Amino acid sequence: KLPQVIIIGRPNVGKSTLWNRLVGKKLALVDDQPGVTRDRRFGEAHLLGLDFTIVDTAGWEDEDENTLPGRMRQQTEAALVGADVALFVIDARAGLTPLDEEIARHLRQCDVPIVLVANKAEGKTGDHGIYEAFSLGLGDPVPLSAEHGQGMADLFEALLPHL
Ligand code: GDP
Ligand code: MG
Repeated sequence: KLPQVIIIGRPNVGKSTLWNRLVGKKLALVDDQPGVTRDRRFGEAHLLGLDFTIVDTAGWEDEDENTLPGRMRQQTEAALVGADVALFVIDARAGLTPLDEEIARHLRQCDVPIVLVANKAEGKTGDHGIYEAFSLGLGDPVPLSAEHGQGMADLFEALLPHL
């Protein structure tokens, strides 16, 4: 059984883009487990010789802003069960939002190891977001561009100790 890595973060930070990047063309979905909701998408990821199951989380994208934190917490909790490590994705261009802080507060209390990912970090426009991300208390952020495939070697190194 492959180790399981779960992608967590508020809407629009690039979770699904990262999932697609890691699964690549082998878009064989392995969503045949009973009880798996469509809020989660399972795929087989390959990263520089590391193989793992990658889980994209969604389902709260259309939620009302006011109900978002509660739903998020519920989703996150359910998804973290069985995960070996969580990738917490923030948007380096947008910088931290209150929802990012809320999720981080929750994740700091979880037992699952967290790898903090500052996505959309291509070019210089993401620099301030990367610096802000240090303040979350979840370790050094890994700057990444899921869209352009940059930073994948650093992601590999960050994941390696946990898999
Ligand atoms: P999700 O809601 O967290 O799953 O985010 P998506 O993967 O759907 O991406 C949200 C938006 O961010 C889309 O328009 C993506 O094209 C864009 N995006 C994702 N990754 C990157 C990136 O590395 N750089 C930039 N500039 N945009 C990105
Ligand atoms: Mg998505």
